[in-house]
Amino acid sequence: MSGRQRTAGPGPDTARTTGAAGPQQWRVTVDRACRRTGICTASAPRYFTADEQNRTRVVSELVAPDEDLLAVAESCPAEAISVTDRHTGLPVTDDD
Ligand code: SF4
Repeated sequence: MSGRQRTAGPGPDTARTTGAAGPQQWRVTVDRACRRTGICTASAPRYFTADEQNRTRVVSELVAPDEDLLAVAESCPAEAISVTDRHTGLPVTDDD
């Protein structure tokens, strides 16, 4: 187990895209634990890019829900990628 929190948010996938607060969005961030492996930038360039010092940056902090993004976050060896629900601030996982 990676130690990443594995729960948050309500039920089925349809609940990920709409709700009382409007269309659901996720907030994606990369923290200082990043080891600059390039895994995320290679596997999901629409979400991650590298700056001139080869530090990983998010292309856009707010994104539409996407299971592929969760898979990339899970694959980060440094657990440096966080995906949270924009409205609740709770971690989003592929168990949701
Ligand atoms: S996969 Fe993780 S450690 Fe590797 S570049 Fe991306 S955020 Fe950094």
